[in-house]
Amino acid sequence: MFAQFCILRHHRKFTAMSWVLLVCTVLITSVQAQGLKPDAADLRWMQTALDRWEDVCRRHLRLPVEPLAWVIFYDEHYAWHVSAEKALLPAHEPAAVTLNFAGRPRELLRVTHRQGLWVPGRNEALPIKVDLSAMPYADNQKSFCIIPLPSIFHKLDGLGAAAEMGELFLGIALHELTHTRQLSFVMGEIKRLSKRYPVPEQLDDNLLEDTFAKNKAYAGQFFREMELLGNAYMAETPAQGKRDLARALQMIQQRRARYFVGKRKVYAPLEEIFLTLEGAAMWAHFQMARDHAPAGEDVPTTLNKLAAKTNAWSQVEGLSLFLLIDRLVPDWQIRYFAPNPPSPFAVLRSTLQKPIRKISATKPLKQKRKQ
Ligand SMILES: [Zn+2]
Repeated sequence: MFAQFCILRHHRKFTAMSWVLLVCTVLITSVQAQGLKPDAADLRWMQTALDRWEDVCRRHLRLPVEPLAWVIFYDEHYAWHVSAEKALLPAHEPAAVTLNFAGRPRELLRVTHRQGLWVPGRNEALPIKVDLSAMPYADNQKSFCIIPLPSIFHKLDGLGAAAEMGELFLGIALHELTHTRQLSFVMGEIKRLSKRYPVPEQLDDNLLEDTFAKNKAYAGQFFREMELLGNAYMAETPAQGKRDLARALQMIQQRRARYFVGKRKVYAPLEEIFLTLEGAAMWAHFQMARDHAPAGEDVPTTLNKLAAKTNAWSQVEGLSLFLLIDRLVPDWQIRYFAPNPPSPFAVLRSTLQKPIRKISATKPLKQKRKQ
């Protein structure tokens, strides 16, 4: 179900002291300085990102659209802050234009890069490169995200035509915006875990992949689980879907019992945390991709296009789990965007006790396509 070609990978690092998160990837070359207004194409793209975030919040994640997290769009010379806390900002200027979100104009504030990309809650600026990240600040109570603008990311090679890249980065932007609604809960979870277990000093959502990718037995079992979860989602009949899901969950349980022992006991709850983070965010990206897919494109095609952009274990496994959770668990969003989100494995296991709901992917997803 998932291709193995990787373009974008998210790297989410937690340190024991600051619990700083860092994400995604890629490279960049130079662009020319601009005036106070953003480039017109960048401005349109920013507005589209906010429009789609509002739409995904309302129709898919079913979250209140407010508060909008602090969003930092940037090119190579300037950052354009939306929903910023002005008191925390370094020297800034209001742009001559505003953005709209949830029916209200939002001020756009320009900060000129000095030693890099200024972000709240950190002593050092970030390097100017194409990264999409969500990070906590204000003692982990709030989150912001950084999103590069088309004038930077269009300079990357190998990501397709301009329109395709625009859609891809909009999807990743929604992924990060979804994280802005999760991080405060996740940081609380990790803090609680650190009182019970020796949590590794450096944490990353690729922890399991980095630890076990070269372990052939572990990797083989993991990919078999992925296959079964994919089969459960694509099953022709509810009964077959239920059998595949039950088998996948059984294998997952065996793997966790075998490998997450001793000093790696903490990997079990960490795996669930990272899968919840990445799964819900990948699912939000997928919903946006469905809403804006070419007319007539079927679900497996959209899914394979999205899967072709990553092979990070936490992202592919998380997406598989949340596609099934969305099928089988009504109103799951309420539980996952709140403190103490449940284990995706436990939630899916509980569905096996109930009469199975629709499990076939041959029908359209239940969300209506936007006209
Ligand atoms: Zn992510």
